[in-house]
Parts: sequence; C-alpha cells; structure tokens
Amino acid sequence: MFNKRIRPDERPVFPKRAVVTGGMPYGNKELHFGHVGGMYVHADVFARFLRDRIGKENVIFVSGTDCYGSPALESYRKLKESGYDKSIEDYVRGNHEKQKKTLKDYKISLDFFGASGLDEAASMHRQVSEEIFNTLYEKGYLEKLSTPQFYDDELGVFLNGRQVEGRCPIEGCQSEKAYADECSLGHQFMPSELIDPISVLSGKKPSFRNVTNWYYRLEDDIDFLKEYIDDLRKNTNTRKFALTVIDDFLNRPLIHIPKRFLEGKDQEAILKRLPEHELTDEEKRKSIMCTFKSLEDRDTARRVLEEEGVHYTAGKTLVPFRLTGNVEWGVPVPEKEDTKDLTFWVWPESLWAPISFTRTYLKQKGCPDDEWKKWWNDDEAQVYQFIGEDNIYFYAIAQTGMFNALGNLHQTNVIANRHILFMDTKASSSSEIKPPMAEELLQHYSADQLRMHFISLGLNNKSTGFKPQVYMPEAERRGADMVVKEGNLLTNVYNRLIRSCFYTVQKEFDGRLPGGEVSERVKSFAEEKALEYERFMYNQEFHRISYLLDEYIRETNKIWAATSREADKNNDKELWRSLLIDTFYSCKVMAILLHPLAPEGCEMFADYMNIGEELFSWDKILEPLDAYIPDLSKHELKFLEPRVDFFKKPLWQLEQAEE
Ligand SMILES: [Zn+2]
Repeated sequence: MFNKRIRPDERPVFPKRAVVTGGMPYGNKELHFGHVGGMYVHADVFARFLRDRIGKENVIFVSGTDCYGSPALESYRKLKESGYDKSIEDYVRGNHEKQKKTLKDYKISLDFFGASGLDEAASMHRQVSEEIFNTLYEKGYLEKLSTPQFYDDELGVFLNGRQVEGRCPIEGCQSEKAYADECSLGHQFMPSELIDPISVLSGKKPSFRNVTNWYYRLEDDIDFLKEYIDDLRKNTNTRKFALTVIDDFLNRPLIHIPKRFLEGKDQEAILKRLPEHELTDEEKRKSIMCTFKSLEDRDTARRVLEEEGVHYTAGKTLVPFRLTGNVEWGVPVPEKEDTKDLTFWVWPESLWAPISFTRTYLKQKGCPDDEWKKWWNDDEAQVYQFIGEDNIYFYAIAQTGMFNALGNLHQTNVIANRHILFMDTKASSSSEIKPPMAEELLQHYSADQLRMHFISLGLNNKSTGFKPQVYMPEAERRGADMVVKEGNLLTNVYNRLIRSCFYTVQKEFDGRLPGGEVSERVKSFAEEKALEYERFMYNQEFHRISYLLDEYIRETNKIWAATSREADKNNDKELWRSLLIDTFYSCKVMAILLHPLAPEGCEMFADYMNIGEELFSWDKILEPLDAYIPDLSKHELKFLEPRVDFFKKPLWQLEQAEE
C-alpha cells in the first residue's frame, strides 16, 4: 500500500498506476455545494497532482451517478404525482447530465463520469455485479436470511429505505431522521429496531412481513477487520478521526440495560436466562452492559428481555451486510437456490461501481478485458477513494471485508473528509439560509476561488464552516469575504509577479529569457518547498499546501518588489538579468505546484513560456529552464499584451472593487 507513514527525512513513494475515485452522488439530485467542496475538489487536486507526478497515462479518475435505489424511486414517484410524464431513466439521466456539467464547471478532471444505470456503464455494472455476487456465493460468504421488512397494509406494498421514517435506535445517536435500516448519520440497524416507524406513502404505521434476502457475513470479519485497522493505525497515514469512527463499529455484540428498568425485578434471574455473556456493572453508570460472543446470542438475549418487559438498547456492532432487496429500480441479482426477482441494494453495488466504471473506461479505450486488474489488483497500483465521513462504515468496513473475501482486489486507500458546514453550526440569522447548490455558487465566485478555498479548509481533521459573504445578511458581513482570500494569492500576487517578469523581459531583453545560473538561495528555497509539498500531497494534507504556496509566492514577490525597484532606479541591466533568471525559475516551480489547484492559469503560463505540457512534469521540477529549452537565446516567449491576466477575478468583483 502507498499510504505508509513516512519518517521526517524520507521521501514518499508513489504507485506506478493509480485510480482516484470520488464518492458517488445519488441520481435524484443536482450537486450540492458540499459534494464539490467537501470531496470532489480534493479528489481532483490529488488526481491532477498524480498525473504530473507519475504521468497522466498512469492515472484514472472515475466517479459516477448512483442511479438506483429507493431515494431515486421515491423522488421520481413524487415528481410523477405532480405531472412528470417521462421514465425513471429519463429522470435520472437529467440529473446525471446536470451533475456532469457542474463537475466540468468546477474543472473536476474526471477521466470517466459514468452512471450505474445508464448506457454502456450500466451493462458493465450488471456484469460486474453478477461476477462479484457469484464469487462471494461460491466461496461461502453469503447467507440467506429471512427478516421482517416494512409493509404498507393500506397500499399493499413493501417499503424500502427512504419510504419509512422514524428514529435511530443506536444508543446516543443525534440524527434527526432515520429510515428503514439506516439513519441520516450512517448507523446501520435491522428494520425491526427502528423507533416509531411511519410509511411515507400512506402516513400510517407500517407492519412487518418476512422477506428473504442475501447477506454478506460481515459479522464474521470482526477479527480480520480489527487486525487490518490495527495495521492502518500503526503503519499508515490514515486519518485518526476515521480510525476512531471505524473502531466504534468493531465492538463485540452488546446490550445496554438502564438500571431503572430492572428496579423491582429479579435481575439475577433475568441475567441467568441470557446466553453466555460478560457483564459490566459499574456503580457510577446508569446502565449495565452485557457483551455476547455472537450476534445470534445477542438476538436471543433481546427476545428474552422483550419477554421480560425490560427495555434495552443495542450497541454498535457488525451486523450481516444486506446485499439484496426488492426495490424494482435496481441491478438484478443472479437467481440462486429459491430466490428470484431480487435486485441489489444500492449501497453494496455502489461500492463496486468504481470497478465497473474503470472497466467501462478501459473498454472504451480498446484495452483487453482483464486490463482493469492492473489497476485494482496489482502491487504497483493504488486506488485512492475520497469520501465524506458519513460513508466510512461502507467504504472502510463493509467494502474492506468484501474485497478481502473476494480475494482478487487490493484494499483501497480510503480518504475520509470531515463535514463542510454551511455558515456556522451556532444559531445565527444566517444559519436559516438554505445551503446553495454547487452550480449556483459559480454565479458569485470563480471556480479557482472556490477550489483554492475548499482546499484550505482542513477537512482532514475538523468539520469547518463555509461562509460565503454573498449569502450573509448585510448586518453580518464584516471585513473581507473569506471565500476569496486564498484566490487572491493567484489573482493578485502570483498574477502580478508573472506579468512583471514577462513585461520586463519584453522591455529589457527583447522577449528572450536571459541565460545564466539560478542563485543557490532560490534553488534551495524551491527544493525545500517542493519536498514539503510532496509530503503534504502524499498525506492528503491539502490545507498545508495552501499555506505553503502562500508563503512561497509572497516571499518571492517581496524580493522581486525590492530588487526590481533597485534595478530600475540604477538602470542596472545585470541586476535585471539575475533577478529575471531567479524569478522565472521560481514562477516555473510555482506553476508546477499550483497546477493541480488552478490548472488553467498555470497552463496559460506554460503556453506563454512556449513550453508544452512537459513543464508540469515532476521529473524536472527543480531543473532550470534550459533543461526544457536547449538554446535560450533562440527561444522566444509569447508576447504578453498589456493588461492580460493569467488568473482572473469574476467581472462583478472587479466592478465592485472600482466603486
Ligand atoms: Zn443513528
């Protein structure tokens, strides 16, 4: 794995090939600002960096619309009630196209943005789903369980996912809403555990009917997972908060019984009826805790407690991971034994959808059928998955167990971001404002400004507020708009520095780069910054990259300002020459470092330098310009007209500044 924790003096090693994935948005909506700012921009910056670092032919960046499942079906049903007359495919396709446009507008450089239920990716996804199911079945990792499912008696239909609402049964859960078998914070439970269920179709309390589904025996993976997570903790750069979230799920099955419910009852006799367990009874705690050897034992205990009329809550633990269901809008499940007409539950199939997307992409490029294995199952390759913290259970636990069971997939590097909050968590009048959709934000800010800002938020260890001033009531706007702060480094400082270099070369050196040695000081400063940057990228510490660039660019600009004043005053051609050699070199290194964050302006710089894409390769990052241009005296730079910008502010911000 290429996520080993490195020593301070050690340079990181990157894989030969890499797949980068971004968590998949549901097919029932457009992209929210949090999809882009909380995850896609981070994945994109990393994918772009890897292309420059290991070669663009060695990176595949995939994602796609999660088309199937009850959320899409439920939104479609509501829309149809209000007169929509197209098919569910049309509905999902409409959202998929809007998502695709938004990602493009934010310069998210996906090699493939598919849709699990549309076109070529859909048939590949069916095939991959079938292969995975059959392998897990043949290897004996699946079990058939008959469990109660919600049923709407009034309408005579089974209810899935979002069609049932209630409260989460997990001890201490703060979620506002829970659905049939998960809450809005991502806790998983059995439908029978949901508190106060209501059918959203009829508004009535649903009943239960038994249905048979296939489950992956995730509860059997507890020892493997504990060991795997231990290894991540000891040896890798996996984010600490994510490990804590994972740990929480890896408890043995247990039950909390509040002591007040045992008052007046024969506690000892009740406990004796429970299967073998470890009892924790501490005086200062309000509950006693029973830890069981298996999930079956815990379920037996629950039945006993229910008979005894004793209230209890279940602790988080691994439960069988449901693979199938009966939502008709889904990928069909191969018929095995006596099951038929089942479809995959949307969560498991979305975990292997990035494999389907990679395979579709490679197929479209004309690669052989098994080419994908060089990317997903190869010691020289690494898959990096950028997700939001709510999905840690699925990617870091369920997927890790299943990939291990399948035996033909390497474990992926799961990079979880904390939440990006709109405004503040604290109550204020501005917290009443509806969070914007991603597309809408682009009316107020440029993509570069937003990219630079999102990257700087430090979501690797804390949830952070996104506070665009344009959404605040007048009375709450104070000082500068925080959202444009990082972007100003580009539009003001770096832009001015590059322009000054070009105008000076045009004025003093006839549009040709002066030849000569870069000063030691400038070279060693560049080396220090490039190596720090490389480390931060390796550890996906994006906010540190934004501090680093700020320091590097401002420091270089300060030297330019002071030295150019002196050269100008004394009309000192030699001083101009050495200053230009140093500053062009620094600007080139900065362009490489900035390229993943603000690609267009950096590419324009390369274009004006008359050097192609090779300028961005890390192979020559610290080399002087004559490593790209054999004869500087014959190399003409592109002519820069007055008032041309490499990094631009949106027009309205410029107008406002002039007022
Ligand atoms: Zn919950």
